[in-house]
Amino acid sequence: MYDVIVIGGRCAGSPLAMLLAQLGHRVLVLDRSHFPSDRLSTHYVQPSGLARLRRWGLLDQLAASGCPPIREARWWFGETLVSGFAPEVDGIDMAYAPRRTVLDALLVRAARDRGVEVREGFTVRELLFDGDQVCGVRGRSAGGTDETIRATVVVGADGRHSMVARAVGAESYDERPAYTVVYYTYWQGLSAHRRNRNEVFIHEDTQIGVIPTHDDAYLIQAARPHSFAATYRTDIEGHYRQAIREAAPALDRELDGATRVSRFLGTAALQNYYRRPYGPGWALIGDAGFHKDPLTGQGISDAWRDAESLSAALHATLTGAEGWDQAMSEYERRRNADSAMMYDFTCEAASFEFDPMTRHLVQVLATSPEHANRFFGVIAGTVAPEDFFSPDSLLDMLGRLPEDTFADEGDLVG
Ligand SMILES: Cc1cc2nc3c(=O)[nH]c(=O)nc-3n(C[C@H](O)[C@H](O)[C@H](O)COP(=O)(O)OP(=O)(O)OC[C@H]3O[C@@H](n4cnc5c(N)ncnc54)[C@H](O)[C@@H]3O)c2cc1C
Repeated sequence: MYDVIVIGGRCAGSPLAMLLAQLGHRVLVLDRSHFPSDRLSTHYVQPSGLARLRRWGLLDQLAASGCPPIREARWWFGETLVSGFAPEVDGIDMAYAPRRTVLDALLVRAARDRGVEVREGFTVRELLFDGDQVCGVRGRSAGGTDETIRATVVVGADGRHSMVARAVGAESYDERPAYTVVYYTYWQGLSAHRRNRNEVFIHEDTQIGVIPTHDDAYLIQAARPHSFAATYRTDIEGHYRQAIREAAPALDRELDGATRVSRFLGTAALQNYYRRPYGPGWALIGDAGFHKDPLTGQGISDAWRDAESLSAALHATLTGAEGWDQAMSEYERRRNADSAMMYDFTCEAASFEFDPMTRHLVQVLATSPEHANRFFGVIAGTVAPEDFFSPDSLLDMLGRLPEDTFADEGDLVG
């Protein structure tokens, strides 16, 4: 009998399991994958996420993996460049974009090292119920044996298509449609000046992202509106290059002399939703409970933030310090409060429909390094969005524009 079974051992599951084991609980992670293995996901990890990795004693391992630190952001809104980087917080002045083969394996190893039992190649087929209370799982091991395993709590860290969420009928709320379709691949042979820089090009209804990663490679993604998905699929390479040609012509010319080192990966299944993350004997974390368009690169760091608060809530209930509903409703409240503004901002960015105020803000950010850095701090999770977007802050920023600005809507973006 385990205290907690965690289904899924990647960004959400392994850190949660590790933190629970450190608090003295008996934890089992089940994942049908074997590690190291890749995931359909780009992998920009925000400074706020790195601050957690450091707190958990894992940042040095990531730094030693050969992943280049990213210390500069350059976001092009049409012809307008906003550049800078998030203000340093807790000694973290960089981001990393580690391959998931490296990052997920590191997290699984850390969980094992700190006392978690991890079973790879184990597919959970169904949940066990005692009345309406979840009390375990049934599934098939890597060796093909069917097994029943019991636990006080079962956590679904099993991603967007969560089997746990389906089995318990977890209610979704604040759902928004999928806004984008994205494809990406890896390139080598780009100019060295890109090595420590994240560059984003937003041009009309296209977003291109260039992110340095392991092996002197660059992940380059091209996102288009969701309505373009069927057309995109007819010629992924052609439409990908066309998007880059239109949004970032100099990059496109550079790619002519570079080498593509992987196949294309991508998806249009990028729904935006919250799910109720708990019920009798079960909980959800990571994409299983909350998903938003990857355009702002929040998913991994959000999963780590929620691993801390869910482990605290489960510890409180498992030790009897708090009742289940009290502890778990606080977990849900904090998750939603911590993510609400970035959820809205991400959905706005992913819809490629910037309102006039955002367009004006871009002009301010382009000319004020201080405000640009604070903007990148919002994306990085190190500047509170409610501070940056507060009425006073907005008035201060918009007050910096020349008086005639509002007479000319301009042609900045979208
Ligand atoms: C195209 C794309 C780009 C993205 N880019 C970024 C980015 O740049 N930065 C960022 O922070 N986030 C990004 N994200 C989001 C990020 O990938 C997710 O938020 C993150 O992977 C969530 O981790 P997770 O552990 O919740 O789920 P997952 O990574 O999906 O892991 C779920 C695990 O559960 C296992 N599992 C599922 N069902 C079962 C079962 N029945 N039995 C056993 N095991 C099971 C799977 O094998 C898997 O290992 C992107 C996502 C996409 C799709």
